[in-house]
Amino acid sequence: MKIHEFQAKEIFRRHGIHVPRGSLARTPEEAREAALALPGDGWVVKAQILAGGRGKAGGILLASTPDEVESHARRLLGAPLVTSQTGPRGRPVRAVLVEERVDVIQEIYAGVTVDRSEGRAVLLVSSAGGMEVEEVARSHPQSLFREKLESDGTLHPFQARRVTFAMGVPKEALPEMQGVLQHLCRLFYEEDCSLAEINPLIIAGDGRVLALDAKINFEDNAAFRHPDWESMKDPDEEDPLEREASRHGLNYIKLDGNIGCLVNGAGLAMATMDMIKVVGGEPANFLDVGGGASEEAVSHAFRILLSDPKVKVVLINIFGGIMRCDVIARGVVRAAAELGMEVPMVVRLEGTNAEEGRRLLADSGLRLIVAEGMREAAQRAVELGGR
Ligand code: GDP
Ligand code: MN
Repeated sequence: MKIHEFQAKEIFRRHGIHVPRGSLARTPEEAREAALALPGDGWVVKAQILAGGRGKAGGILLASTPDEVESHARRLLGAPLVTSQTGPRGRPVRAVLVEERVDVIQEIYAGVTVDRSEGRAVLLVSSAGGMEVEEVARSHPQSLFREKLESDGTLHPFQARRVTFAMGVPKEALPEMQGVLQHLCRLFYEEDCSLAEINPLIIAGDGRVLALDAKINFEDNAAFRHPDWESMKDPDEEDPLEREASRHGLNYIKLDGNIGCLVNGAGLAMATMDMIKVVGGEPANFLDVGGGASEEAVSHAFRILLSDPKVKVVLINIFGGIMRCDVIARGVVRAAAELGMEVPMVVRLEGTNAEEGRRLLADSGLRLIVAEGMREAAQRAVELGGR
């Protein structure tokens, strides 16, 4: 789960990481009020969307008067913002963060994430602050430093010193900079993040060490111990189909292809997606209806698949173990009848009650192809998908 910059900065503050003074505005007038309430003679107006790359895309605007703050806010709030991370349709800007403008002496990148090959969290630090870290890793890999965290989120003082020395942080700012890195690691662990990033972390003209930007992704598997996350969710930003699926306890992730997949079991779902790729197709989604899904759940799953306009063919791949193939077949027939199926279907059923399942489908009058084996099923789907 992603949260907005202003929300992430709230969490930073609680963990002792300083951020510029500022407040959130949902209208141009509120933005002006926010500017008048802040000390100083310069402001930054920042579009709040759940994607990065805002600076380059014109989503971060500098202002010298409250009037200018207001007009910048009017411009940002009026249109979706398209950045390198949003896709061509961009994201709606429902709020802007108005902050004091600070002079930047030095910019650093600092981020904590999980290194899966190490099986632990790592702190990444780079002197190329402000640039996207993927870009830094490509073009300036020598400027990137890594420190492994202890399994309880501890970054040892010697590690904090090592990276800040490598960054060439001036002596006066060293203790505070080291503190920020340690706080960031602690925050990552305590708040159950999958990413906690400051880009840029800066030394300001007046000597303050500030997180100018803030990005936090939460680890969804920890949601059960963070009831407060619910209130931080932005309904605008969620995919409506994914939200619908999670309401019905389905594991559904939307993808860009045109072959809708209905599969039971995460492993089989992944194998199915692999097979589609092998035979030259693109899956429209990952969908695991679960090991023991009901007819009801299958019917919901079907509805979700078919409401994606990109889906040109549906591939059903079921191995009936706990899940019985006749139950799947009934769910499919029911949903198809209710929804009026317009796309062709390829079905591969094996396991418990497969014969009965196939018979139910064959007798249903639906437009479908029964395939033998996964490869054949995937091939037929690709042919019908018209890629
Ligand atoms: P992102 O592009 O979505 O990552 O948005 P950021 O919050 O990182 O802002 C983009 C860039 O705007 C930063 O890298 C800074 O260089 C610049 N910026 C943001 N706030 C300030 C500020 O108060 N003063 C100055 N001088 N630059 C700022
Ligand atoms: Mn940034």
